[in-house]
Amino acid sequence: MENWGKPLRKVVIVGGGAAGWMSAAALSAVLKPPYEIHLVESDEIGIIGVGEATIPLIRMFNGLAQIDEAAFLKATQGTFKLGIEFVNWGREGERYFHGFGRVGKAALWPVDFTQYWLRLRAAGRAQPIDAYVISSMAAKANRFMLPQPEMQNSPMAELGYAYHFDANLYARHLRALSERRGVRRTEGKVVRVLLDEEPGPTSGHVRAVELESGELVEGDLFLDCTGFAGLLTDKTLGVGFEDWSHWLPCDRAWAVPSESTKPLLPYTRSTAHRAGWQWRIPLQHRVGNGHVYSSQHMSDDEAADVLLRNLDAPALADPRLIRFKTGMRKDAWTRNVVAIGMSAGFVEPLESTALHLVQMGVAKLIEAFPHHGFDPAEIAEYNRQSRERYESVRDFIVLHYHLNQRNDGGFWQACANMHIPDALRWRMDLYAGSGRLVYVDTDLFREPSWLEVMEGQNLRPKGWLSLAELQGVDDTANYFKGVSDTIANCVAVMPEHSEFIRSYCAAPPMK
Ligand SMILES: Cc1cc2nc3c(=O)[nH]c(=O)nc-3n(C[C@H](O)[C@H](O)[C@H](O)COP(=O)(O)OP(=O)(O)OC[C@H]3O[C@@H](n4cnc5c(N)ncnc54)[C@H](O)[C@@H]3O)c2cc1C
Repeated sequence: MENWGKPLRKVVIVGGGAAGWMSAAALSAVLKPPYEIHLVESDEIGIIGVGEATIPLIRMFNGLAQIDEAAFLKATQGTFKLGIEFVNWGREGERYFHGFGRVGKAALWPVDFTQYWLRLRAAGRAQPIDAYVISSMAAKANRFMLPQPEMQNSPMAELGYAYHFDANLYARHLRALSERRGVRRTEGKVVRVLLDEEPGPTSGHVRAVELESGELVEGDLFLDCTGFAGLLTDKTLGVGFEDWSHWLPCDRAWAVPSESTKPLLPYTRSTAHRAGWQWRIPLQHRVGNGHVYSSQHMSDDEAADVLLRNLDAPALADPRLIRFKTGMRKDAWTRNVVAIGMSAGFVEPLESTALHLVQMGVAKLIEAFPHHGFDPAEIAEYNRQSRERYESVRDFIVLHYHLNQRNDGGFWQACANMHIPDALRWRMDLYAGSGRLVYVDTDLFREPSWLEVMEGQNLRPKGWLSLAELQGVDDTANYFKGVSDTIANCVAVMPEHSEFIRSYCAAPPMK
């Protein structure tokens, strides 16, 4: 067998933002002594602190890292998220909802629910798609309760939801949990990265990081969680970056918190503006807002002004400017360095996917953990899967920009006219023809998400699959009525979102 180096014992995580502490929390749930986990972070550099909205798979991360839901929501001023309301994306004045979870019911017939819906809509007998998505209907009614898995056959069994939380409090919560499990933390700025120069299987691997204080932190495996700095993967190992800004031209954001408003909405709102879009994320103690825009199409001053003019309540601080570049690191794992978080790549936050990519980065690392040294086949497979995940997220985000009919300036027209990735073209063409939705097993967003965004932004198929004709229109209409009535009845008994939070995870007032 090839010599992959000595057995691995010590993991060093450089960076203590969400990526660093999520990695520490998950690894410390799995790796017990003699493994050691040591995290280095610099308070002076600080964290980006804006990852505040998530997707439902974060609940799997909570399971992996053994995070108690109610305790974590309480500690992070968290709220529930049932989806995203998109305002002005297709055309100005329009809105649609991307709700989490299933559309309709599990397939009972030869083709999926969407096919029957398309046929019924053509016959004037279908309601808008939201009527068949429980998370969308609950969001519109401003209600929430946890799914009830024991209620089989009820839409309540699998209500899809995620969270909003305060990013700084999230990192703090994960830090406390990780330290309780034995993760050692050192505060300090890394000023030098030392490589192994001895000939052998670990030649060229990172051996240690040196802090400003002169302290050396040595390790076997290094996680680069230094965010956009990419200190190990980029600055030390020189791993290249694949730039996707020709597909996703937004490169800056202003972020600002504002006072809470009532009611406490259980969803994120994304409002398109002339050269980008604005997020609104409701937390228990405040609302997080930001304006993501293309600096080629709007000045920083105008972008800040657009954000402040479109807040629903007074700002609680001055806006903060964040610059970013969209794209991915050519390889997430190189030698003994794994880049996790923004050092591995960044796809802008329109569908709140970055923390999910962190989650997958660490979950897949645990799966391929190099207990016995570094196996090139495992590293190549990790990098292949990582690329597929980033590309699948990218294509879904590009869809939102490309499929617009706005006529208010160069930004949106350039997006509508751009040459899109082939895999996205394929999905759009299939839907535009027969309403067919495709799923490949690396997809993060499943068929309902594609349907809601394509329909929400006015892509209308020419027809449907002929198998949908096997069922009579009256029978189908009755069945659909049953589904929408059941959803409406379930929503009617749910408590208000703020009431549910009060009883389940109310956070103490912030000092
Ligand atoms: C505008 C914007 C909005 C976003 N919104 C969302 C969202 O809604 N949902 C979502 O999932 N994600 C979102 N994200 C992404 C999310 O914020 C990040 O993915 C997440 O916070 C992880 O960041 P990170 O830990 O990789 O980097 P950071 O938070 O930047 O942390 C980097 C860490 O490295 C440390 N560090 C850097 N250099 C050194 C050094 N030399 N020595 C020691 N330590 C060092 C820093 O001190 C810090 O601790 C958003 C991002 C942006 C830019």
